[in-house]
Amino acid sequence: MSEPLKPCPFCEPLYSDPVLVTGSPGNSFVMCRGCNCATDDGTAERVVGLWNQRNGQQ
Ligand SMILES: [Zn+2]
Repeated sequence: MSEPLKPCPFCEPLYSDPVLVTGSPGNSFVMCRGCNCATDDGTAERVVGLWNQRNGQQ
């Protein structure tokens, strides 16, 4: 299992509910159900990393 998702940088602290959507291999993405922002597609490991890195930049 990959690392936990950090809260959405755009919704925090109001409402944040990021989810990892797993499609076919290499075709997963993380999206926020609060504002519908999402990462690019990639492997689950990569997109979780992208999501958490972006969170850290806010
Ligand atoms: Zn959001």
